Amino acid sequence: WLRRDAAAVWHPFTQHATWTDDTPTVVDRAEGPWLIDVDGRRYLDGVSSLWTTTLGHGHPDVNAAITAQLARLDHSTFLGTTHTPGIELSEALIALAPRGRGPDLTKVFYAGDGSSAVEAALKIAYQYSTQTGHPRPTFVRLDQAYHGDTLGAVAVGGHELFHRAYRPLLLDTIGVASPGSRDHAPRERAALAAAELTAAMRDHGDQVCAIIVEPMIQGAAGMLDYDADYLRLARDLADAHGALLIFDEVATGFGRTGSMWAADHAGIVPDLLTCGKGITGGYLPLSAVLAAEHVYDAFLTRPGDTAPRTFFHGHTYTANPLCCAAALANLRVMAEQDVIGQAARLGDRLGKLLEPLAALDGVTEIRRLGTMTGVEVTPRGERTGFRVCQAARDRGVWLRPLGDTIVIMPPLTLGDDETDLLVNALAEALDEVLA
Ligand code: PMP
Repeated sequence: WLRRDAAAVWHPFTQHATWTDDTPTVVDRAEGPWLIDVDGRRYLDGVSSLWTTTLGHGHPDVNAAITAQLARLDHSTFLGTTHTPGIELSEALIALAPRGRGPDLTKVFYAGDGSSAVEAALKIAYQYSTQTGHPRPTFVRLDQAYHGDTLGAVAVGGHELFHRAYRPLLLDTIGVASPGSRDHAPRERAALAAAELTAAMRDHGDQVCAIIVEPMIQGAAGMLDYDADYLRLARDLADAHGALLIFDEVATGFGRTGSMWAADHAGIVPDLLTCGKGITGGYLPLSAVLAAEHVYDAFLTRPGDTAPRTFFHGHTYTANPLCCAAALANLRVMAEQDVIGQAARLGDRLGKLLEPLAALDGVTEIRRLGTMTGVEVTPRGERTGFRVCQAARDRGVWLRPLGDTIVIMPPLTLGDDETDLLVNALAEALDEVLA
């Protein structure tokens, strides 16, 4: 299988022809939090298959919902037709939307994955500006941010690695210091980030259609958590300058941080909220933009308009009914089994179990919000984080690094024994690589 894979498959973010040690594992089956490869080896999936399988694999209720939907309606376009799972899911998402300072989120626009939800939100924000005042072609974005890999999402990311290859293609943005940046001590970084955001809006606010941030913790940036005050400031500045506020909750949504949304920790509501990953419990690709009524309203063509206000965006598989049925089942299970309560308890337990590792020589810092966890190691030779993950994999635990930050993002329902196993394997791996 590996030979055939290397001959025919182009993997994301991978060059396994030259990085021979990054050989993919050939996954054959999955059960709960376990991945099983073609040779029958079992791995505890410590990153929920890229932060998505919040209930673990093969939950009977989600499986049943998908097969029932499959027997009824597999796919129908969402352009000109609608369907009951799409309607019900929209209602459910609106009922679950964050509450607090900011508008109620009352409309759901579907997309296929996190990047395309971000892409839709950016286009909505720009078009909103043209239809409510004047074109504002600029976005404010955080340094180190990751919002996906389509062109718009890359542009509002803050990572040189992703910008370098595509710079001439990218949108106009203003990068500001991340409130989670570890380049400065906690109080300094909060003050610096606040000052940069304030200055960016003071100097360019009239050109800014939206500020986009991952609330409370920047996941793919390396699990950089920060204080809720920054989100309050972002809300105030967006309002003061007539810009929209976008929260990207693709990683943080659906219980990952120990509450339904990361926004709940701050009590701040954005004008647009993107979500994906955990929405279907990781079963099928689906994402969404939750939008405030005032944003939606700007897209309704009115008598006397000289041009349509239509949002020119929508894909073949938008709101695929199987995906919507999976998401509805996932949300039902989350409510019935208090999965968010489980996630909060799992996060606390992980925090306690990881505490002794923070004292290890070679562990720089452990960062966490709920179950979103990053263990940063001090580089010891080439690709230290990767080698720690390899050593954990040798012990049957699947982890992935972000540079030298080892990410732990387990299913939210992970049991105590499995949590112990995960932390013990990581401890041994750190011991082996950092010794
Ligand atoms: N936004 C955030 C915050 C993410 O973490 C990710 C993926 N890691 C994305 C967007 C892109 O999502 P996808 O990979 O599903 O396109």
